[in-house]
Amino acid sequence: MTQILDGKALSLRIKDEIANEVRAFAATGHRPPHLAAILVGNDGASQTYVANKEKSSAEVGFLSSVYRLDENIDEAELLKIIDFLNRDDEVDGFIVQLPLPKHIDEQKVINAISSDKDVDGFTPVNIGRMVLGQDAFVPATPMGICTLLQRYNIPTEGMHCVVVGRSNIVGTPAANLMSRKAFNCTVTMCHSRTRNLPEITRQADILIVAIGKPEFVGADMVKPDAVVIDVGIHRIPDASKKSGFHLCGDVKHSEVDSKCSWVTPVPGGVGPLTIVSLLQNTLLAYKKKYSL
Ligand code: NDP
Repeated sequence: MTQILDGKALSLRIKDEIANEVRAFAATGHRPPHLAAILVGNDGASQTYVANKEKSSAEVGFLSSVYRLDENIDEAELLKIIDFLNRDDEVDGFIVQLPLPKHIDEQKVINAISSDKDVDGFTPVNIGRMVLGQDAFVPATPMGICTLLQRYNIPTEGMHCVVVGRSNIVGTPAANLMSRKAFNCTVTMCHSRTRNLPEITRQADILIVAIGKPEFVGADMVKPDAVVIDVGIHRIPDASKKSGFHLCGDVKHSEVDSKCSWVTPVPGGVGPLTIVSLLQNTLLAYKKKYSL
């Protein structure tokens, strides 16, 4: 029988754990952890993500601040704000919400973030440390996937994990993490130039899908009893909904779910764990700073 990897319920439990730690620090006279975010422009999805991060920060007792910047801001000005946050002792970690407007060099901006405050885990230093198996801030989405597998005690040792998608923020770090000793999977990474994709995905004991294509993975691409992690999230226009849209993932759940042993729903799977991972990284940055 298919079981649900319930990211929403797990995220509430982990938020409770974080809030308890924050309360314990407050009881010994420490200020709360502080997560800042830089939001450039008016992209609707980015605004929603940042608002959710603010809300979740408040729920666990963190301080949060958002730098809302005009979409025409020049790169030098943005780099100045990053430099300010790097040196601000009251900020433990910060993120730059992606994507950035086209005239700004995204990698240059990421490279400017202090690795000690890079709670998104996107800087070359943190990526390098993660690949070497050293202490690092791990990118939030792959970290959320790891947390789901670990907290649900999903067996991974010796399993064939197929990751579809090789982005720097999801597929590549997810493939690396699943191959390391904490999971001991044998990993295959696929991308848009992979030949015979269904043939490969059908070999997966654990299938992680992060391609950004609505309902791309159907039942013909999934092995019976596989564990399926759907990272994708899409707003599909839907006149029957009050909001005018419904959400779906990269996996066609109507046909895939009944075939899986475990599956993440969309929404309520990987998404809530992504935010929780950001909070966990911020708490880690704070604890490191004060040697707590
Ligand atoms: P990107 O667009 O950066 O990367 C997509 C990857 O999928 C690329 O590596 C691309 O290959 C590969 N790909 C595209 N089409 C195919 C195909 N037909 N067959 C095989 N591989 C393909 O996306 P992200 O990694 O940033 O995000 C993926 C999805 O996850 C999106 O829906 C996004 O919204 C969602 N997301 C959800 C998060 C959450 O918290 N739930 C967080 C982050 C993302 P190539 O490299 O060759 O182009």
